[in-house]
Amino acid sequence: MKRPFNFSAGPAVLPETVLQQAQAEMLDWQGSGMCVMEMSHRGKEFVSIAEQAEADLRTLLAIPDDYEVLFIQGGATAQFAFIPLNLLGDKTSADYVNTGQWSAKAIKEAQRYSSVNIVASSEDSGFTTIPSQDSWTLDSNAAYLHYTPNETIGGLAFPFIPTTDVPLVADMSSSILSRPIDVSQFGVIYAGAQKNIGPAGLTIVIVRKDLLGKTSPQLPSAFNYSKVADAGSMPNTPPTYSWYIAGLVFKWLLSLGGLSAMGAINERKAGKLYSGIDTSGFFSNPIDPACRSLMNVPFVLADANLDSVFLDEAKQAGLTTLKGHRSIGGMRASIYNAMPEQGVDTLIQFMQEFERTKG
Ligand SMILES: *Cc1c(COP(=O)(O)O)cnc(C)c1O
Repeated sequence: MKRPFNFSAGPAVLPETVLQQAQAEMLDWQGSGMCVMEMSHRGKEFVSIAEQAEADLRTLLAIPDDYEVLFIQGGATAQFAFIPLNLLGDKTSADYVNTGQWSAKAIKEAQRYSSVNIVASSEDSGFTTIPSQDSWTLDSNAAYLHYTPNETIGGLAFPFIPTTDVPLVADMSSSILSRPIDVSQFGVIYAGAQKNIGPAGLTIVIVRKDLLGKTSPQLPSAFNYSKVADAGSMPNTPPTYSWYIAGLVFKWLLSLGGLSAMGAINERKAGKLYSGIDTSGFFSNPIDPACRSLMNVPFVLADANLDSVFLDEAKQAGLTTLKGHRSIGGMRASIYNAMPEQGVDTLIQFMQEFERTKG
């Protein structure tokens, strides 16, 4: 069996060695006689898996000791509500940056619990650039400032980390672990796992400890950061198998040399693909070059009538899931950490050949 290169935006490709290890351990995890899925989350085997995964994530991101790391359920979408419910305290308003579809969803959900001040928006540019921070209207009374460092659908990424006096909250679902970051600049980082971490069903929340305890009374206890932290992410049954696979992915990243090594590979992969697009007369990407995503590369064909031929032939060439988001059309190549560089090279060659014969 030959596995194709899978450019899905999420759930997305996982490192092959991780899948092989999971396969090898499926029936018997390290002599326990059990599959990880069958283990009690409170047994010593699973607790060791969970603790190791957290320790490895802390190493990878150099997470300072004054941050809690939570492994919870519900996806990033649930966090759109749990962020205001955990952080508002006695404040009544929060600042949000609108840079595309995921920030718009976060804003809409937050508006159910809080008044929302849109400090800046990319709408004027058709979501192709990030307004520079000197044009923003920050509210010094906001409970926090929320932004989406990488817009997965539009392929638009922040080239800077916002500076603010209030806690900075980032939805890193599609960019976490793609390169080193300075966690101490953030109040909360959250990410659904299914893009760059592991299987769907797991959500990572990294929260600075001084932000705990401001919860609204409506907040479900299972998503109360403070209670989840006190219970070691096990106030109830956590997504155990996803947690285990995430742990294998963390080990894989460490074995590659950590996030600086991963970041260099990602820059090389994205750099090649954008340069292939920019030097072509047939493919194009509309995003401001300073704000292009390392992880999600949308592009369009000069003739949209060829889209379905492109997708069919790409599939035959072993390149799958390149269709753009239904709201945008065109193509999108998601090139997360686990996409091998060879996959990107194969895609570029395929695009060049397609342009030569059909463009
Ligand atoms: C995929 C994605 C989400 C939604 O994640 P779910 O886990 O499906 O809720 C939110 N934000 C960003 C940036 C995403 O890429």
